[in-house]
Amino acid sequence: MIKIDLAGQIAIVTGGNRGIGDAIASTLLKAGASVAAVDLNMENHEYDKAKYLPIQSDVSDFDAAKTVVKQVFDRFGRIDIIVANAGINRDQVLWKMTKENWEDVIKVDLGGAFNYFAAASLIMKEQRSGKLIAISSINGLRGKFGQTNYSAAKAGVVGLVKAAAKELGKYSVRANVVAPGFIITEMTDRMPQKFKDAAIDETALKKAGRTDDIANAVVFLASDLSSHITGEIIKVDGGQYI
Ligand code: NAD
Repeated sequence: MIKIDLAGQIAIVTGGNRGIGDAIASTLLKAGASVAAVDLNMENHEYDKAKYLPIQSDVSDFDAAKTVVKQVFDRFGRIDIIVANAGINRDQVLWKMTKENWEDVIKVDLGGAFNYFAAASLIMKEQRSGKLIAISSINGLRGKFGQTNYSAAKAGVVGLVKAAAKELGKYSVRANVVAPGFIITEMTDRMPQKFKDAAIDETALKKAGRTDDIANAVVFLASDLSSHITGEIIKVDGGQYI
């Protein structure tokens, strides 16, 4: 029987309060890992307090990311998995895109992944093991109308991961990307119905994805089942991109 066993592994999941991030935290916990969930606002979650550490922090703050990584290391003694999931969107067509909306999305979606990967990489390098996983988007692999900021940030994450995979591979640290298609969460809930219908219609499977679909891919990349996979992108999109 094939079993994913992450017992003894320590994970940090950014944007872990809700949506895809909370599903990732919950699935990692079920696989046996301990999880620190980082978010701007951490609500109460009914997880085992011995294995779950909620931390309120802004991923776009470089120094705060260092502090969080140190806090988790001090509490658990190692860091095995970083899931850079926190993300925002601020959609506007290019000719109406404000400097603020451009910068906010780049700072959180790309800067947040950099801040956490940079802070954890030294620990993982010294441990000679670790898994960096970024949640990008299929809209970072193609251009999306109204999302020059988001597509740029999510494409940037792919470049960050590929370069990190090359730098850290000899230390047995792997870096990979999960690129979701349309998933029902609070982020997508506010989309007009006609855009939701269009996204579903684009998929080969003719359905929206669930947060667990993303969490399952993350747990695979965090486990030894993917031990020879690095610098790779796994689309989890029901065939939306093809
Ligand atoms: P969501 O809005 O439901 O959750 C995002 C979480 O990130 C929230 O809890 C939010 O508070 C947190 N966050 C935002 N800015 C932060 C910051 N500066 N510091 C710390 N935490 C912050 O979104 P979701 O749909 O669960 O998306 C999760 C990730 O998946 C995002 O990176 C998103 O871009 C990506 N994604 C989502 C979809 C989708 O269809 N839902 C598709 C492709 C990619």
